[in-house]
Amino acid sequence: CGIVGYVGPRSSQEVLIGGLRRLEYRGYDSAGIAVITDEGSVELRKRAGKLNVLTSDLDAHPMPDGHTGIGHTRWATHGGPTDENAHPHLADGGKLTLIHNGIIENFAELRQEALAAGFEFKSETDTEVAAALIGLEYAKTNSLELAFRHVVRRLEGAFTLLALHANEPGLVLGARLNSPLVIGLGEGENFLGSDVAAFVEYTHKAIAVGQEQIVAVRADSVEITDFEGNAAEASTFEVDWDA
Ligand code: GLU
Repeated sequence: CGIVGYVGPRSSQEVLIGGLRRLEYRGYDSAGIAVITDEGSVELRKRAGKLNVLTSDLDAHPMPDGHTGIGHTRWATHGGPTDENAHPHLADGGKLTLIHNGIIENFAELRQEALAAGFEFKSETDTEVAAALIGLEYAKTNSLELAFRHVVRRLEGAFTLLALHANEPGLVLGARLNSPLVIGLGEGENFLGSDVAAFVEYTHKAIAVGQEQIVAVRADSVEITDFEGNAAEASTFEVDWDA
């Protein structure tokens, strides 16, 4: 339902939780965040319930921070509102993590494919199917971008996806089809969101990612391509409301 991403010098956890608070108005049943720590592992916390359940959990069981992260508020469509079904989802032995807004319509056949390849599902979501396949593809390509692109092209339905891999700290990949994704441009840092509310506190300079585009966002660069990998353009705009 709500999506936020960050790459830059700030505490990811702070930016992600702040962004999720600003997206609360959309409604949700679960929340979670994942970061790539400075030690190079993926750490995540996710809980059914309101954001306060997640933040209490983080207070009680703090996790190391990092400078690349993604956060999600979920409105369940596939699988009930449980801790396991909350996003982010993990794959590639816990090194890859993914969040998703929307519905992957062809998830059932893709789930069979991941099961046949030996993936062990922990949730009932359509989202974890995409995570599983990207992880399996990563094992072949060793490139998050190649693996992500390969799988995104096969997904049908509506999605905004953000993915991270522990081996590629400093990179957030995003994709969208029939679901919104915007980038917030900072100085030496960049933000992603399902809408500008996710980052309006930090920047008013934004890019509306186009339909069927993939973005590779780093602290100092934003690369936009179409699903096939050709360079693409998206429109830049100024957010005209106050934080
Ligand atoms: N279909 C996904 C799920 O049920 C994402 C729902 C959403 O947009 O929050 O987990």
